[in-house]
Amino acid sequence: MMSNLNILIMGVAGSGKGTMSKYIKDYFGIPHISTGDMFRKAIASKTEFGVKAESYINQGLLVPDDITIAMIKNRLLQDDCQNGYLLDGFPRTLPQAKAFEDIAEETNRPIKIVIDLEVEMSALTPRIINRRLCKNCGAIYNTVTLPSKADGICDLCGHQLVHRSDDTFEGLKVRVNEHQKLTNPVLEYFQKEGLVIKVDAGRSVEEVWLDIKKALEDLDDHN
Ligand SMILES: [Zn+2]
Repeated sequence: MMSNLNILIMGVAGSGKGTMSKYIKDYFGIPHISTGDMFRKAIASKTEFGVKAESYINQGLLVPDDITIAMIKNRLLQDDCQNGYLLDGFPRTLPQAKAFEDIAEETNRPIKIVIDLEVEMSALTPRIINRRLCKNCGAIYNTVTLPSKADGICDLCGHQLVHRSDDTFEGLKVRVNEHQKLTNPVLEYFQKEGLVIKVDAGRSVEEVWLDIKKALEDLDDHN
């Protein structure tokens, strides 16, 4: 019987966080709460939060924490979160982690496990440098592991594929450093509570998923 599978997933772009989030959501049947998606939806449907968030995004500013936190609190209170949730993209700073603990307590939905997808630069580099994307439909390819059928052309829509200008070794190093600087205090915070499991995400999708699935099933047994 599954209960309270309240999960936070963390990992830098290229760690496979999107893929693992989808697997967790489909296998355990819990909602995937991504702050990025939440903002896009709220803005599109012009909710009160959406209108507020949009005014910051339009000015090129980050949405203030109090708005994000209010949105997440609202989301956690919905019925589909009562057996668990998968939080992605938040909290990513220490003040956010502390504020989240407060709303998790108020809503009685505390985080039970933090999955940290660890990936070495050596494994991340080919994933990013060989990445090609279709700006038309959003499809992502890899010239080595997942090439398109025709060189430089999207299989799905026939548009030209692009290599993002910051998908370089230098660009990647900057992104990884920024990610670590922000998220290390968050990980330490949850580590003190004994909630963090580290998963070596430099391996194949199947291997990573088996480890995550086992950790979540073990957690479930102890609930
Ligand atoms: Zn396409």
